[in-house]
Amino acid sequence: MPYFIDDKKIRRILRRTKRATKTDAKKVFERAMEKSGLELEEVGVLLNISDRGLMNELFDSARQVKNEIYGNRLVLFAPLYASNHCINNCTYCGFRSKNKVKRKKLTIDEVKEETKKIIEMGHKRVLIEFGEHPIENPIGYVIDVINAIYCTKTEKGEVRRVNVNIAATDKNDYALLNQAGIGTYQLFQETYHEPTYNILHSGPKSNYRRQLFAHHEAFSAGIDDVGLGVLYGLYDYRYEVLALLMHANELERNFNVGPHTISVPRWKPAESVKWRRAPYSISERELLKIIAIIRLALPYTGIIMSTRESHETRLRAFGIGVSQTSAASRTSPGGYSNRHILEQFSISDRCSLDDTIKSMMLLGMIPSFCTACYRVGRTGETFMSLAKPGDIHEFCLPNALLTFQEYLSDYAGDAVREMGEEYIKELVDTLDLKVKRAFLKKLERVRNGERDLLL
Ligand code: SAM
Ligand code: SF4
Repeated sequence: MPYFIDDKKIRRILRRTKRATKTDAKKVFERAMEKSGLELEEVGVLLNISDRGLMNELFDSARQVKNEIYGNRLVLFAPLYASNHCINNCTYCGFRSKNKVKRKKLTIDEVKEETKKIIEMGHKRVLIEFGEHPIENPIGYVIDVINAIYCTKTEKGEVRRVNVNIAATDKNDYALLNQAGIGTYQLFQETYHEPTYNILHSGPKSNYRRQLFAHHEAFSAGIDDVGLGVLYGLYDYRYEVLALLMHANELERNFNVGPHTISVPRWKPAESVKWRRAPYSISERELLKIIAIIRLALPYTGIIMSTRESHETRLRAFGIGVSQTSAASRTSPGGYSNRHILEQFSISDRCSLDDTIKSMMLLGMIPSFCTACYRVGRTGETFMSLAKPGDIHEFCLPNALLTFQEYLSDYAGDAVREMGEEYIKELVDTLDLKVKRAFLKKLERVRNGERDLLL
């Protein structure tokens, strides 16, 4: 294959590591504790384990690395589907062009209405989603949607970071996205296995190379936070994880910064998709294994999990590696205003934001709506240079707690507010003394009505 995805090498690694012993796996766990990432060969060893004891050790190692780097924080966001018009016919997707149902593209007023609903739930981050359609969803429309979201304010809040998931495009379009002030540009390869990719796609997205090099284009247009992902269920997950890491290494080599985030979506049933289950469907345990391996292989990369997964699966995943998650999501344009028009796929976790936050606290997680890094320019290489030595820590916990207090003051129900304020009190004592003083002053100001304060 003429790309940086080296099919032969992946197969060689998987073949060689199939015979890996317990001792080999334990050596990899030890190496992972250095928090400097893993070699592909080491990842191969972990991908091949299935023994219950080793799997538990894998989860424990991932939990430890996650806690040392991210603490117990979990950042929340909401997806906003702007348009389900799409000219591609991806076999697995409810928006595929062969699904001849009526389509919906939000007007700019409807985008503002959806944004208000999202703000009123308590969210501060949005991920916007579009089908690929040069006539219905040209880049000008995407930019108008972004501007409309940023300029929508309610009495209590606003969206502070807009991440974008649009089809692969060219450098000019990416430069426009960058000028519009986007957070992360996310695009999933879906499957790195080229023959499978070719079978599952038709339309402009069927160009494997266009998809694979989209993040290169985005970087060259000045975007420095990009997100990668695989849609699990399309091909063998072992192959996909190694290929994904090759992609991450390629970005690091070329742009001195790897992916800011990696998403771990599993295929879900969708309207007009004939599959009863995905061709390479993976179990919950395999999904957790993938998350744990990515956490060890790329310790400083955010891992995103959506509401495609059930509440219970999500809670298990939060502990071992996920650092960002959507909550109370809708996957159709107009979904938050109850205009349900063609969902992209079915959602499993339908909990409200308040209920998700309550479950997170019971688990010992810290809900965060923080956008501080992005707002003070700590993105791309700058972010990684702080994150790698662990320097980001001293800002993260207090900033997370300030945004959590905003949520508690403005949006939480009484029970969650009481529980949350007690929870913050307990966490304050874990702060360094100097940080604690500055934090307590700002916390008081937030409680008195000031907003968007950073440490
Ligand atoms: N249309 C753009 C694209 O395909 O890149 C952007 C966003 S698309 C709305 C977001 C992602 O949803 C896709 O990249 C795909 O991985 C995922 N997806 C599509 N169909 C799905 C399904 N049935 N179950 C779970 N995820 C799905
Ligand atoms: Fe369109 Fe994206 Fe769905 Fe493919 S995955 S049909 S490109 S919306």
